[in-house]
Amino acid sequence: MYSSHISRVEKARNYAEERERVTINRLTATFRGNNNTHELGYDAGVWRCTCRSFSTQGSCSHAMALQEMLEEVFPSGAPEPA
Ligand SMILES: [Zn+2]
Repeated sequence: MYSSHISRVEKARNYAEERERVTINRLTATFRGNNNTHELGYDAGVWRCTCRSFSTQGSCSHAMALQEMLEEVFPSGAPEPA
């Protein structure tokens, strides 16, 4: 049991270095901004945020920050907000 745990950990480490294996299809996140908390979403290449900036300008610092945090799992660069 112990050795199978070790091999699972090793396999996970190897997988973690092969980002191309993973495609993020959708995610949701709660972002605690300076003034308010916002709900962020990503679905099939399209970003959403509940903040005012996103609804009026189609982009916001919350989505941009999350894209930067997730840069490693979006190997070809994070998709632009819709
Ligand atoms: Zn936002």
